[in-house]
Amino acid sequence: MNIEEKIQKDVNLTTKTSFRIGGLAKFFIDVKEKEDLVEAIRWAREKELKVIYWGGGTNVLVSDQGIDGLVIKFSNFDIKVKGDRLDCGAGASLMRASRMAAGDKLTGFEWAIGIPGTIGGAIRGNAGAYGLYIGSYVETIDVYDTEKERFFTMSRSDGDFSYKKSIFTKRHDLLIWGAVFKLERGNVFEIDKLNEEYMSHRKGTQPNLPNAGCIFKNISYEKVKIENPKLAKEIEEHNPGFVERGMVPVAWLIDQLGIKGKVMGGAKISLQHANFIVNTSNAKAEDVVMLISYIKQQIRDKYLLQL
Ligand SMILES: Cc1cc2nc3c(=O)[nH]c(=O)nc-3n(C[C@H](O)[C@H](O)[C@H](O)COP(=O)(O)OP(=O)(O)OC[C@H]3O[C@@H](n4cnc5c(N)ncnc54)[C@H](O)[C@@H]3O)c2cc1C
Repeated sequence: MNIEEKIQKDVNLTTKTSFRIGGLAKFFIDVKEKEDLVEAIRWAREKELKVIYWGGGTNVLVSDQGIDGLVIKFSNFDIKVKGDRLDCGAGASLMRASRMAAGDKLTGFEWAIGIPGTIGGAIRGNAGAYGLYIGSYVETIDVYDTEKERFFTMSRSDGDFSYKKSIFTKRHDLLIWGAVFKLERGNVFEIDKLNEEYMSHRKGTQPNLPNAGCIFKNISYEKVKIENPKLAKEIEEHNPGFVERGMVPVAWLIDQLGIKGKVMGGAKISLQHANFIVNTSNAKAEDVVMLISYIKQQIRDKYLLQL
């Protein structure tokens, strides 16, 4: 089958996002092999089409007008356990990687147990929870350079990981094809206990309605200390764990504004978690965008902070 035969037309993205929002992708391809990735990008370039890369669609807001271009979804979802290492395709589920690690008595990936999406998406945004981030467990990354049209192996230090960032958030010409993670041998009871704790914490604090996880990144405590010292004191009192890590939880700030439950069209600020927006029924991307602007404005007016 040539590449054109593998490309689908007018694919509905609504069901491919955790937000359940978005129009059609004019062209869409599931990529399982390296050659297909290379050829799909070439095909789009020849036609001067925009290319959008897709993992699990759990951290994106797609326009209701859809995407007038080619969506390339990473579907290389293999995970191999090799001793104390996990070798994962970019399209592999992060949660499955966490479960497989636990099943092989490997510790280090428990924080990932409730985070949807793929390994590729997680590496790009340095996904994490409870003060732990995927970047710390990366040994090597298999990268595709779309300009030079070549694959190469990158070490963790070249991944340039920081809070919610990596080299891939800066260099859009680089794609993640896979990664090897180094974990540790652990105690199966302790691993299971931690997984249960994390899962029950998520169930108790996160909404069931369609969403895309936290909307805003947490902000730096140092920044708040400079811009609003009075607020910084209050934050320290109520969120010592976050402050210890140099962070201010935006959910707490939104909560203090008393705007949880605010609705715009089909979008609503979650009652369970103030940093989540949920799709209550047929929300439009525009509803979410308007609600985001509203929250930003409220935070600016009340706390003199920019989200
Ligand atoms: C209920 C819920 C809970 C969540 N909890 C957390 C949490 O605790 N911590 C956290 O960090 N996040 C959390 N998230 C957000 C989200 O799950 C993560 O950010 C996840 O890592 C995104 O992965 P994805 O595959 O879905 O990426 P997508 O949403 O598909 O894509 C996100 C970005 O990554 C790019 N991308 C995807 N794959 C590749 C690739 N192979 N190479 C280069 N770029 C790529 C895309 O182009 C896009 O820009 C949560 C989301 C939900 C819905």
